[in-house]
Amino acid sequence: MKKMIARKPTFTQAYIGFGSNLGNSIETLVQARKHLEETKGVSSLRSSGLYKTKPISSYPQDDYYNAVVECSVEMNALDFYKHLQRIEKLLGKVDKPKEMPRVLDLDILLFGEQVHESKELTIPHPRMLNRAFVLVPLLDLIPTGTVAFPTREGESMIQLRDQIKEVQKDSNQQVERVTGSIWDRQV
Ligand code: ADP
Ligand code: MG
Repeated sequence: MKKMIARKPTFTQAYIGFGSNLGNSIETLVQARKHLEETKGVSSLRSSGLYKTKPISSYPQDDYYNAVVECSVEMNALDFYKHLQRIEKLLGKVDKPKEMPRVLDLDILLFGEQVHESKELTIPHPRMLNRAFVLVPLLDLIPTGTVAFPTREGESMIQLRDQIKEVQKDSNQQVERVTGSIWDRQV
């Protein structure tokens, strides 16, 4: 008889950037997190606080609501990315140029220590270190303030507080904590 070898599930710790500035943004972000939480192969969700931020775009549009969610993922990066795209579509995201307002944006910021450079997926997210609306919520989830940032050349340790100071030299990169919303009440 053939021997069955039980394959150990491999879990990857992922950080997802959440953003919305169209429609009922806070409700959409809460719904997106709920879908993520109910996904098979996704567990141990932790949420940052919710932040209101100025859009980085030349096209005039409303402020964004942003947050970061940490979770444990039992899927490969590409399948996980496709799943996030399904959640975006389900909640009403339509394909538009990057600069335009959006109902929902779910970006994979970090996926364990993995580095991906394909047409559809770049991990770590190439702009995450330049965006206060990613770094500030990330600091909520990583109280040590130090995050391992993998690259093809090796890993560097990012001091989030220093990096935030650096990017906030640009006055457009202010982020405002939003308290008391359903984002904080429903986890
Ligand atoms: P934004 O760059 O503002 O997130 P979109 O959400 O419209 O803009 O996504 C643009 C493209 O970014 C998508 O077609 C997707 O393939 C690509 N992409 C590259 N890397 C990532 C990543 N790490 N997470 C999510 N999308 C990514
Ligand atoms: Mg995106």
